[in-house]
Amino acid sequence: MRVLLTGGSGFIAAHVLNILLEHGHSVVTTVRSQSKADKIKEGHPKYGKDKLDFALVEDIAQPGAFDEAVKSDPPFEAVIHTASPFHFNVKDVQKELLDPAIVGTTGVLKSIKKSAPTVKHVVITSSFASIIDASKGSWPEHTYTESDWNPITHEQAIESPQNGYRASKTFAERAAWDFIETEKPGFALSTMCPPLVLGPIIHNLQTLDNLNTSNERIRDIIQGKMKDEVAPTGTFIWVDVRDLALSHVLAIEKPEAANKRFFITSGHFSNREIANVVRDNFSEYKDKLPTESTLGGGYPEGGIYKVSAKRAEDILGIKWIPFEKSIVDAVKSLKSVGA
Ligand code: NDP
Repeated sequence: MRVLLTGGSGFIAAHVLNILLEHGHSVVTTVRSQSKADKIKEGHPKYGKDKLDFALVEDIAQPGAFDEAVKSDPPFEAVIHTASPFHFNVKDVQKELLDPAIVGTTGVLKSIKKSAPTVKHVVITSSFASIIDASKGSWPEHTYTESDWNPITHEQAIESPQNGYRASKTFAERAAWDFIETEKPGFALSTMCPPLVLGPIIHNLQTLDNLNTSNERIRDIIQGKMKDEVAPTGTFIWVDVRDLALSHVLAIEKPEAANKRFFITSGHFSNREIANVVRDNFSEYKDKLPTESTLGGGYPEGGIYKVSAKRAEDILGIKWIPFEKSIVDAVKSLKSVGA
């Protein structure tokens, strides 16, 4: 298949790109600068321009940003849209989180409808952020599935960067499903809703200060930042980046995945458990780590929400990578960047 992948420089997209190429697809990926394209190219020396090419999209929040990128010869059959800001370092939630997420998502869909009639399937990276109802807290009696939607309002969204990020994913995913319903564009949609994504980094990273948001807690643990008190876990469910990336690719390959929302999670974890895995596998970090008696980072006393990812298991056939392997591989990858 000829596939357009947005945001190729990102943590998750780098894995999606690898799997697309391994599965024999031919990929054009969007990046914000030529230097980012050059770095990705350097990392894939065995693929020629026919298999791996680039389109520059500097800012997905600009109207029409994808108008040129969706045009290709040979034409695209599928699009995987991962690009969206995921960090909390923002002053203006509307401009820096909501606009790129929502306008980026509707923008790519509009450009496909207008200029890429051969596209039959679009996969969008949404999030557990668009599923969770934060007002319910730990909600131990509830099982989250694809039928849950975050009820966050615009007023709540602009209260904090954390709310802003969750709302950005919720509003963007809703806008995508609304687009399919109202515009009947002639392509199918699948959305992927992962919680915290952990695992090895393979994208270009100069320094650990620029690490992607979801792996920051692993870095912080091995750098000794949780030695005296383990930080609260926040979101208690996770998935390995390789399982999530494979889910994106299988979604374009399997017709049964069309027009479905997928909750992509392998289960529960806590920050304490990350520290335990590091302690058991990397003696060199011993002095930096919290001990069994250090406070913080565990599960809530009354229990925590349950989850069901049965749809992903049944339709996509994902077999989840175990937590210990994910953390060990993540730490090894951080070591290669100087941890
Ligand atoms: P990264 O920060 O590594 O990747 C984000 C990507 O989006 C980068 O390629 C970035 O480009 C691009 N991007 C952000 N804003 C813009 C913009 N305005 N214009 C153009 N490109 C932009 O994060 P992840 O890989 O973790 O996230 C990828 C997707 O997965 C996002 O949609 C995120 O919401 C979603 N997700 C992530 C989870 C996680 O735990 N990691 C959990 C749930 C969902 P550049 O590198 O040039 O800045």
